[in-house]
Amino acid sequence: MRFHIITIFPDIFDSYLNESIIGRAIKNKHISIKFYNPRDFIKTPQNNYRPVDDKPYGGGPGMVMRAEPILKAVESVLSKLKAKKLVKLKTIIFSPSGKKFTTLYAKQAAKKYTDIILISGRYEGIDARVKKIFKAEDISIGDYVLTGGELPAMVLLDSISRQIPGVLGKYESLEEERVSSSEVYTRPEILKYTPRGRGKKTKNYKVPKVLLSGNHKKIEEWKQRK
Ligand code: SAH
Repeated sequence: MRFHIITIFPDIFDSYLNESIIGRAIKNKHISIKFYNPRDFIKTPQNNYRPVDDKPYGGGPGMVMRAEPILKAVESVLSKLKAKKLVKLKTIIFSPSGKKFTTLYAKQAAKKYTDIILISGRYEGIDARVKKIFKAEDISIGDYVLTGGELPAMVLLDSISRQIPGVLGKYESLEEERVSSSEVYTRPEILKYTPRGRGKKTKNYKVPKVLLSGNHKKIEEWKQRK
């Protein structure tokens, strides 16, 4: 899977993408990630930057990301893809009012596409004509408003990548397939904790007995319930 991320803040992604499972997926070439900064596509002949945003038509506070720099950034992705065979492309624009992103969406995307363009907005959002021109899908990662589409891009990238065969190790993939509870424990068996402050008593926090029972059927039932 090739991810093409359109963002005016590519540095935001660095540390997250280089660590752990996603870092390994890039090294092992299960995924590739390229950044396209709309700012780079609107330099004046004197090499000065033009603003990527402008005032909204119809008035109101905040600024809107101009269409042209983003169109150019996306076009540069498209021209690179032309040389490749069997490209199955999806273009996504982030918006808090878009279709809700889910694990099912991630699973289907991992199967269907070879390339995904993720367009991250900032300010009040992106000129709506970008969406029309590229027939992009509006996607939301949840019912809250963020300051930009960079976190949503990372969320999709992470969630779609872990659905690509080979990205999770053998053990982790098995984890995916079976029922796993969100209530988990590790050593010690009895955790002693004393809250700060005078006169506070030490309490013992125990691991649920069933998990120590060795009875696999009962343990599975417990996990299902959880
Ligand atoms: N006033 C705009 C919000 C802009 S938030 C509105 O009501 O739609 C700025 C940018 O952050 C958006 O363009 C989008 O790219 C991103 N963003 C914010 N919250 C998001 C969410 N929950 N899901 C996906 N993208 C989001």
